[in-house]
Amino acid sequence: MGSVTSTTTWVYDFSEGNKDQKDLLGGKGANLAEMTNLGLPVPPGFTITTDACRHYLEHGSTPPDLAGQVTEHLTALEKAMGKTLGDPADPLLVSVRSGAAASMPGMMETVLNVGLNDESVQGLAAQSGSERFAWDSYRRLIQMFGRTVLGIDGEAFEHALDEAKREQGTDLDLDLDAEHLRDVVGRFKAIVREHTGRDFPQDPREQMDLAINAVFDSWNSPRAILYRRRERIPGDAGTAVNVCSMVFGNLGADSGTGVAFTRDPGSGEQGVYGDYLQNAQGEDVVAGIRNTVPLTELERIDRGAYDELLRIMSTLESHYRDLCDIEFTVERGKLWMLQTRVGKRTAAAAFRIATQLVDEGLIDTDEAVRRVTGDQLAQLMFPRFVSGGDATRLTQGMNASPGAAVGKAVFSSETAVQWADRGEKVVLVRRETNPDDLAGMIAAEGVLTSRGGKTSHAAVVARGMGKTCVCGAEELQVDTTNRRFTAPGGVTVEEGDVISIDGSTGLVWLGEVPVEDSAVVRYFEGEIGPDSPEADDLVRSVHRILTHADEVRRLDVRTNADTPEDSARARRFGARGIGLCRTEHMFLGDRRQLVEKLILAETDEDKQAALDALAPLQKQDFVEIFEAMDGLPVTVRLLDPPLHEFLPDLTDLSVRVAVAEAQGHPDEANLRLLAAVRRLHEQNPMLGLRGVRLGLVVPGLFAMQVRAIAEAACERRSAGGDPRPEIMIPLVGAVQELEAIREESEQVLAAVFEECGVELDVLIGTMIEVPRAALTAEEIARSAEFFSFGTNDLTQMTWGFSRDDVEAAFFHAYLDKGIFGVSPFESLDRPGVGRLVEVGVQGGRAARPDLKLGVCGEHGGDPDSVHFFHEVGLDYVSCSPFRVPVARLEAGRAALGGERAGS
Ligand code: PEP
Ligand code: MG
Repeated sequence: MGSVTSTTTWVYDFSEGNKDQKDLLGGKGANLAEMTNLGLPVPPGFTITTDACRHYLEHGSTPPDLAGQVTEHLTALEKAMGKTLGDPADPLLVSVRSGAAASMPGMMETVLNVGLNDESVQGLAAQSGSERFAWDSYRRLIQMFGRTVLGIDGEAFEHALDEAKREQGTDLDLDLDAEHLRDVVGRFKAIVREHTGRDFPQDPREQMDLAINAVFDSWNSPRAILYRRRERIPGDAGTAVNVCSMVFGNLGADSGTGVAFTRDPGSGEQGVYGDYLQNAQGEDVVAGIRNTVPLTELERIDRGAYDELLRIMSTLESHYRDLCDIEFTVERGKLWMLQTRVGKRTAAAAFRIATQLVDEGLIDTDEAVRRVTGDQLAQLMFPRFVSGGDATRLTQGMNASPGAAVGKAVFSSETAVQWADRGEKVVLVRRETNPDDLAGMIAAEGVLTSRGGKTSHAAVVARGMGKTCVCGAEELQVDTTNRRFTAPGGVTVEEGDVISIDGSTGLVWLGEVPVEDSAVVRYFEGEIGPDSPEADDLVRSVHRILTHADEVRRLDVRTNADTPEDSARARRFGARGIGLCRTEHMFLGDRRQLVEKLILAETDEDKQAALDALAPLQKQDFVEIFEAMDGLPVTVRLLDPPLHEFLPDLTDLSVRVAVAEAQGHPDEANLRLLAAVRRLHEQNPMLGLRGVRLGLVVPGLFAMQVRAIAEAACERRSAGGDPRPEIMIPLVGAVQELEAIREESEQVLAAVFEECGVELDVLIGTMIEVPRAALTAEEIARSAEFFSFGTNDLTQMTWGFSRDDVEAAFFHAYLDKGIFGVSPFESLDRPGVGRLVEVGVQGGRAARPDLKLGVCGEHGGDPDSVHFFHEVGLDYVSCSPFRVPVARLEAGRAALGGERAGS
């Protein structure tokens, strides 16, 4: 920070700021200012800026002129209130609250009732007419101040309070009368003396200054630091401090406190939503001391306050042009607004509200697109449980990976695989999972664990697979040895019993809960027309918003698909072509034998025979995919993974060979196979013989694939279709690799087209997925007509993270420690991997201005990453079929400058 001049304004009255000054005044301060300027009843006060906090954190002391400015504002506040801070006869009391620009709920500190001391407590008693209230307020101050400002362990106060209650034979705070509370204050003061060696400060201004510094300090509390790391909130932003005159909801039956929403945050419907607690302060609501009543009850309790609240809610809605949430207090019949902000809402409500606001003329359709997010859309696409059926609720665990799964409980990975193979639906139940459970997780409809949090192995892996998962259901006693679990109440679930788990709520049931497909997915599938009677307002909202996103977006959206079914579905979901057709999936199943033959072939004839057997199968795959994507580009990637992936496992095979030998009849075929497996075995297969390297060392392999593509295209053309194949070479690191394959491919294409008498323009391009390719993109582009960034491998190779291992092995620890807030395999690491993408884009376009640029790694369907790809100027993103609508929406939002983090 530069030198501090006497002109720096560190303190703003609530009447001086506005809602757009969040960076300076924090979210709470900016909105208090906005409400003050709207003429709403906000208790007067002032905000100390985040600049002052940053100064304090940097220099270890407040700016020299801060105290003077605080004095000026305090004097004005005292004048406005007609009271003096801590006045013995009639004290002004203030709250000192944190409020950063980004919401950090519960992470920083607050001190209430500042200004009370041994004398002013008497004044408060006289003014309020309640001794009990005054002493209770005083003990709350010492407790909060002692913990927050003086750093005394909160337990010391809790113990003392419990002791006082025990002496009175009660465990309720409310049973303590004024005398008892006066006694508690005495005990609390003794605790302060004992722990700090000094008395609780009696000077009200000293209390206030110390509380302000404590709020500044709380910016750097360990939990706040961790929260910021996870949420990617800059660590140097600092918090503002709001000093606000206290109003009391606990002065009797004509007082109270509540929260309200201007619309239902669950459904989006307009109406009166919220809770009210009579004769209470905000912290009592949080502590759940008594049950709240629905806000509509306030109409009966205090008609005047209720009507005014409704008027204010309507003012706020039309002013903020959005759903607002509100905290308020009624002090002896007078309504006070303590806070407002644009409120959180469910995914369905976000879509509904956005279109409602368009219809009400409060926002335009561009703004409606900005108001929803791809994550919210994704949530609307999961199947849901519907009420009904006779399932019994067993427990609630953590909602680790959304979706609804029903199946027979199984307790081992092997059983999951066996039962699934015979067509049964299963839910894998484990105490916790480890990498050995992977096969079972794949086979199961969903995964349930009794231990571990949202970053446990089960949670991380299930989310990665898009599989429903409930984890940490601690009430369940899972007994894998006896293959059963016990739920609270003694219900025992044996292997084979049907259970239902809801990954969106964490609920677990015994029995089958009916599952309903998402109406939004049925709309994307074309089963529900947007104007049909079946389309509810949610479907209509999604339709309107996505239609507009499509109109405004610059990025094209393609899909990653390698079957005709996936291609067709992605097309229905709005994909305009295939950005990645992985051909290795076509070499599995029955065809694995043919690949094995290719690898084992010792003569050219054997090799050719194996290739000849594969070629027609490959061709048929492409014919069907070109048909599904007729008229749209289909990027076919030539074989990528190491060959040993098509061979049996080394250990399994060694055992089989050894057993056969021991039994005296060695198996020749298996012996040869074992030799090949050994020959091809690699310590680091991901960095070994794969991608373009395979094409270069296994002659004929890529040529066979290119021929199959070309012949399939010719067949489609002859049938009157419009095939648009593009050939993509994986794992290129040097232009020479690409040149060699390109030359071979061009020859094959020319030969086939001549044979068929067809002329087709087939682009040949490469993936950019090795850092060297990004760094030498300019050279590579001379030989490539398109680039597709393979950000899965690019992430793996940039970080040196084995993509098959690290997420399950230690990412939960990295996430827990806040090293990163989200896996770089999930959301693009902009400064690292993103930098390489930028370098690749610049190099590529320098050599070839019309170079077509796309991305086909998993990040192509990740909302935040889509914004990045828009910003760096790619032409398209490609993602799995289910992410296509998400990518369409986020591409639209990126074009409109919408932030990634929605409401
Ligand atoms: C990539 O690496 O980003 C990619 C799309 O290829 P694969 O995931 O098949 O390695
Ligand atoms: Mg790759």
